[in-house]
Amino acid sequence: MMDILFVLLRASRNVNCKGLAMFAPPVYISNRTRSARVATIFLDRDGVINENRSDYVKNWQEFRFLPGSREAIARLTQAGYRIIVCTNQAGVARGSIPASTVEDIHQRMADEIARAGGCIEKVYYCPHAKDAHCSCRKPMPGMVLRARDELGLDLSDAVFVGDSISDVRAGLAAGIHSVLVLTGLGVEQLRDHYHEANGPFLVTMNLKHAVESILQGLHVSESSQTAFKYSYASLFERAKYTDALGAVASL
Ligand SMILES: [Mg+2]
Ligand SMILES: [Zn+2]
Repeated sequence: MMDILFVLLRASRNVNCKGLAMFAPPVYISNRTRSARVATIFLDRDGVINENRSDYVKNWQEFRFLPGSREAIARLTQAGYRIIVCTNQAGVARGSIPASTVEDIHQRMADEIARAGGCIEKVYYCPHAKDAHCSCRKPMPGMVLRARDELGLDLSDAVFVGDSISDVRAGLAAGIHSVLVLTGLGVEQLRDHYHEANGPFLVTMNLKHAVESILQGLHVSESSQTAFKYSYASLFERAKYTDALGAVASL
């Protein structure tokens, strides 16, 4: 019975995904499905789904999907996960990009991902300046907690995947597991900032590897988290493999 309800829930979400994926509200079939546990994956955007740009992605022409990211998201969708994107976009506060353009980029991104078979249920972004001290800019957990409240998410098996230690910290602050990918800023973030994380986290090469690890349950294994963390840390201390790692991460 639960399997049937689960399939119905997935099917209803997928219908939403073919329309306005960003703003589609979750559709609940019954009170029982509302309490059904469906794990959620929170994704950072820049450096995880698309190439990072030091000057912000200012329009759709500058948005470049990282190799394999759409397929990785599709794999999560097909495995039944709910997928939420949480991204800091301080370029809005700086006047580099209008909020309407940010939202246009997110709609096009969600449409492209839907064409690949993935479903982004909603995109949250923080438009505030770095020094605004808002509660939504990562490493604060505000966007994760808002998504939980607005979408009725069960965070007990949730994971945050990002390329910055601020993503890892936001996930840990919200009480969920965190994965750092080595695409985008990941290599330098791990090398220079891994000690800023206030808990264990998993390190994977890219979103594809993160998804494989999550599907295998490695993100909940403290031994694999710690092993990854210390093996990479000692690697950086002993050798200058930073560039090589960055090249491998984008494979
Ligand atoms: Mg990022
Ligand atoms: Zn904010």
